[in-house]
Amino acid sequence: MDARLQQILDAINSDLRDDPDRGEVASYIPELGQVDPNQFAITVATADGQIYSAGDAATRFSAQSITKVFTLAIALGRSGDQLWRRVGREPSGTAFNSIVQLEHERGRPRNPFVNAGAIVTTDEVLAGREPREALAEFLSFIRAAAEDDDIHINADVARSETAHGHRNFAHAHFLASFGNLKNPPEKVLGTYFHHCATELTTTQLARAGRFLIGADCHPRMVSLDRVRRLNALMLTCGHYDGLGEFAYRVGLPAKSGVGGGILGVVPGQACIAVWSPGLDRNGNSKLGTEAMERLAREMDWSVF
Ligand code: GLU
Repeated sequence: MDARLQQILDAINSDLRDDPDRGEVASYIPELGQVDPNQFAITVATADGQIYSAGDAATRFSAQSITKVFTLAIALGRSGDQLWRRVGREPSGTAFNSIVQLEHERGRPRNPFVNAGAIVTTDEVLAGREPREALAEFLSFIRAAAEDDDIHINADVARSETAHGHRNFAHAHFLASFGNLKNPPEKVLGTYFHHCATELTTTQLARAGRFLIGADCHPRMVSLDRVRRLNALMLTCGHYDGLGEFAYRVGLPAKSGVGGGILGVVPGQACIAVWSPGLDRNGNSKLGTEAMERLAREMDWSVF
């Protein structure tokens, strides 16, 4: 055990958990708007198999966009590099739900982590199957990665998003108008809203992300070559239009979600999951980013 790492997490938790300046909880999905903002959790899973946590690490939160990393891994496993005909690999510089670029790029989303791109990867995971089968594969993947079967989808959150997901419907229909959806928009979105509504704790998320550490990390879910590429996409596209700021401050590949979670990777060394529901103006967890910045600095973790 690394006593120093545990001390750092405890200090981050005690310094940040009562910070009054914690950002705003996402409310465009009504169910998420009800989450108590005064929560904070951080977990680190190290390459040698240890788990370190502080704060509310046993409380479940809505993973939201973080699930896009897992659906991308599954889509690449199913379709390989063919997927890149349908979605690009460039940072967007716009909000996660912006629709403007999609028209300029003629229906090929900029990257798999903006909503339109994740709708395409979800469509690829769905191809030829019913949503429940695709979601079963998604859940099996994330449970196997975490080595924990107690990870579930919150149907109320999925329903809440379906009832208010006008922008995502617009994205899906726009993609379909360019011939970039293989399945009916409603079916793809039903699947998308459900995987986004996956709930887990920071402990489960850090464990689920261990395959992204690479090296000899257990369990090996995808090839090392693909792990590197997933990390490259997280570094360049994982934080909406707050990417430069996150790379500057934290310097690690990461994917955030509007539920206030962030999944970060220290290649070869560790996987970090942090959660605090309040978001900054770019939609990334405010205290979560501060916690990652401090952890990376104190552990001297950076890809640069
Ligand atoms: N399900 C959310 C949406 O599509 C995910 C957004 C996010 O976490 O960035 O709006």
